[in-house]
Amino acid sequence: MQFRCPVCGGALAADGGALRCEKRHAFDVSASGYTNLLPANKTHGKVPGDSREMVRARRDFLAQDYYACLLSEIADAAAEWISARGLARPAVIDAGCGEGYYTGGVADRLAREGVEADVAGFDISKFALQIAAKRDKQSRYAVASLFDLPVFDGCADLLLNIFAPYAEGEFARVLKGGGLLLMAIPGRRHLFGLKQVLYQNPYENDEEVYSLQGFRLLGRRHVRSEITLQCGADIHNLFLMTPYYWKSPRETSQRLMQMDRLETEIAFELLLYRRDDCAGNRPNGPCFCIQ
Ligand SMILES: [Zn+2]
Repeated sequence: MQFRCPVCGGALAADGGALRCEKRHAFDVSASGYTNLLPANKTHGKVPGDSREMVRARRDFLAQDYYACLLSEIADAAAEWISARGLARPAVIDAGCGEGYYTGGVADRLAREGVEADVAGFDISKFALQIAAKRDKQSRYAVASLFDLPVFDGCADLLLNIFAPYAEGEFARVLKGGGLLLMAIPGRRHLFGLKQVLYQNPYENDEEVYSLQGFRLLGRRHVRSEITLQCGADIHNLFLMTPYYWKSPRETSQRLMQMDRLETEIAFELLLYRRDDCAGNRPNGPCFCIQ
């Protein structure tokens, strides 16, 4: 899967410690191994995406494998799909990959099954990609917007979209006809134990299953478990990963911060969408089918 120049749209090729297009637009590969493909005029002068603090919290929390059940389900679905289609060198994009926990996990799983996948992770936060690129050397990482992925039309067999914004038009553009979109969203009672500490009347999440133009919903898998956070640091990290961190009153936040043990349900919905082939919808006009 070739990366595309964000300035002129030409193909990028490795050239020393940089990626360069035919028009000589150059993008340095950072010391940790990711490339910044977000044009400076699209950052509006500030560092976009999750902050260093949020990214570290998520890295440390996920490193404890509290969400291993979700990773395992995603990796199963990816491996089953690739095996059923007999793809020898599938191109996999993780759109909104964060610190690469799921990207690297899926790449590892495919490698264990003897599949030589070409895996690329994109995220708007360079802090997240510093971590991702440092620890996962088998995948490639680049800073980019999910709404403007720096790859060519119809290049991907599989696209992961895990707790990230979705961009149906862009996802339809980059996926091959018949390709698979794996999307994970919070389930109805995700983090209910955490909410019970924060709110008098905790609410359940809506499980909104989107109807995406250009895609057919093939199925959904429910992933549920109970986890016990064993220390204050883990509780703090989890809290920082959630929107409740910004929304909760100081009193209740402090109550949570004083705890050193927390039991909570976790629940996820894994949605499997198939990109329509040539006979289906073509949201962006031309047909992007490769096969
Ligand atoms: Zn260029």
